[in-house]
Amino acid sequence: MANLPITQFEEKIIETVEQNPVVVIIGETGSGKSTQLSQILHRNGYSKSGIIGVTQPRRVAAVSVARRVAQELGVPLGEEVGYAIRFEDRTSERTLIKYLTDGVLLRESLSNAELNQYSVIILDEAHERSLNTDILLGLVKRLVKMRASNLKILITSATLDGEQVSKFFSNCPILNVPGKLYPVEILYSKERPKSYIDSCLKTAIDIHVKEPEGDVLIFMTGQDDIEKLVSKLEEKVRSLEEGSCMDAIILPLHGSLPPEMQVRVFSPPPPNCRRFIVSTNIAETSLTVDGVVYVIDAGYVKQRQYNPSTGMYSLDVVQISKVQANQRAGRAGRTRPGKCYRLYPSKVYQDDFLDVTVPEIQRSSLAGSVLYLKSLDLSDINVLKFDFLDPPSFESLEDALKQLYLIDAIDENGTITSVGRTMAELPLEPSLSRTLIEANEYNCLAQALTVAAMLSAETTLLLSRSNRTEKKRKHTPRDLPDGSGLGDHIQLLQIYERWDETDYDVDWCRDNDLQVRGMKFVKDVRKQLSQIMQKIAKGSLDVRANQSRKGRQQDYRNLRKALCVGFANQLAERMIHHNGYRTIGFKPQLVQVHPSSVLRTDEEGMLPNYVVYHELISTSRPYMRNVCAVEMLWVTPILKKLEKLDINKLSGGVSHIGEGTEETLAEAPKKEVDVAGLSNDRESKIQAARERFLARKANK
Ligand code: ADP
Ligand code: MG
Repeated sequence: MANLPITQFEEKIIETVEQNPVVVIIGETGSGKSTQLSQILHRNGYSKSGIIGVTQPRRVAAVSVARRVAQELGVPLGEEVGYAIRFEDRTSERTLIKYLTDGVLLRESLSNAELNQYSVIILDEAHERSLNTDILLGLVKRLVKMRASNLKILITSATLDGEQVSKFFSNCPILNVPGKLYPVEILYSKERPKSYIDSCLKTAIDIHVKEPEGDVLIFMTGQDDIEKLVSKLEEKVRSLEEGSCMDAIILPLHGSLPPEMQVRVFSPPPPNCRRFIVSTNIAETSLTVDGVVYVIDAGYVKQRQYNPSTGMYSLDVVQISKVQANQRAGRAGRTRPGKCYRLYPSKVYQDDFLDVTVPEIQRSSLAGSVLYLKSLDLSDINVLKFDFLDPPSFESLEDALKQLYLIDAIDENGTITSVGRTMAELPLEPSLSRTLIEANEYNCLAQALTVAAMLSAETTLLLSRSNRTEKKRKHTPRDLPDGSGLGDHIQLLQIYERWDETDYDVDWCRDNDLQVRGMKFVKDVRKQLSQIMQKIAKGSLDVRANQSRKGRQQDYRNLRKALCVGFANQLAERMIHHNGYRTIGFKPQLVQVHPSSVLRTDEEGMLPNYVVYHELISTSRPYMRNVCAVEMLWVTPILKKLEKLDINKLSGGVSHIGEGTEETLAEAPKKEVDVAGLSNDRESKIQAARERFLARKANK
């Protein structure tokens, strides 16, 4: 541990930090940035005046690194060293070093804008350019001016381009920690393989039989492919003649793996045994696995992208950037000279790969971030004026403002409403926060909490959902509820209520192909959301699952009504004489209900006229995923609102905004929006908006 490159620079680091409020630290992956920097600062007294906070873009990394540091310091996790990720806080009053996701730190700044509990904030893995880290960079820039005397900021990155960040922070110093990296021989394929899984398999086995000892790290795009390759590799290794080569252990590594499985990659292998680590992108820079000598890189990564002009998400397998390819190769040279097998020709690397990865802020929905910035209430912060390292496109800001307006989080002048403020307090995407608030008005909060919790955990439940068709054949008849034909949200509610009836029996989950860990997580998330809602309502709300005041059908109806308000921006209308839908908004899309949906047609074979959806995904074709039937009556006010919507006013009343180029955005900030003269006018408009809002509510 003491031998990690970064610890040799302890003095230099402390000296620089002492003299500068912001320091950028660049060091190879594995040089000890995540595990050692916090300890260096702790040793040098920085934890005496506050917590040393270290952000991580990935949940898994926050947990894993915290565990490691606790171990190195010989303290139980959750005491002096702890972590906080969404829906899971393992810190205590004694915590001095705290690992947290960048999203959690953003939320913390909502209740304490100056982040006074921290003496040091390390924004780790800045090269990942996650949306939340980018926003934190902007906020922290403000913060260093306000807390110049008692706050230190460190920004770490694994790639060599620290200049941009340094410039952003008035040319703050950059410390380079030279890592000892051994040469890595790069071997290219002659052509792109037909099946990258098979090609990985073949390459891995070739290495195993021909190359000297050393672990193999294989980059895959996701959990499904990892599982496929792991089982193929296991089979292949077993079929090799005994004694012909050394033993092998095959280990998967991805974010949905149970923690005890994740840590397995950190324990050294038995002698004369080769490990194959089959990993997602997580091993590219977030987690360092020791002992790797061979890397297999097919050149792909799975990336979630949001298209603001269509409101559509896609989970695309895309080509990695050159920077990523080099990071991956670097994993092979940490302990001795290594080899990287690129399953693509060098021409593809040269000509097709982008130089750097597109930052998340330029490929995400910004509704949550914009709401968040608006709720910070800092007179010197205007969303359009916000100091971004790389600004998002005007179109995506516009898209965010439109959504926030449709769900009443901001008024027509772009000012945050009281509903919007409440929404920002909930650790959920804006549509779900809005649904909870509305559900509380209709006495169906208990049900909405269940749905929000189920949707928040869906990735871990997904195992059974995505495998549904295959599993169906094995277990018939299936016993899970069907959402009464009303849609997937209702089904999620019914599933949870069934589980509640069994008194949270884990065997019931197993019998129904539901992931036990996922369901337990839902239960916990539900509890936390309930507590936050109780706090917001400042009263005692009845949030028990499985309670019904007016009967199930009425509950479902109320819940759907609340969903219609929360998902006003995710509304679609059935096309006449057709079971396809058209989304409602400026640029309507033609979409289908996802085949996995439990939404049913009526006696005439027709799907409901209006539905709300949780997300639009574009796979083989555009689908709505998680769909719920809503009624015309509830849709009308949304359509009216859409008619009135004036995007120019929403973005702050600057009339020529909306001409739509990025240049306009760069221009816009100069126009002061929060000028005093407007405020009276604005006050009355807020008031009017609130009245309309209340009137609408009363009409229900
Ligand atoms: P960096 O952040 O610079 O990429 P880290 O601080 O994450 O580097 O890793 C430094 C070393 O600590 C690596 O050798 C890595 O394998 C080891 N390490 C990190 N986390 C753990 C863990 N949870 N268990 C065991 N070793 C770990
Ligand atoms: Mg790190």
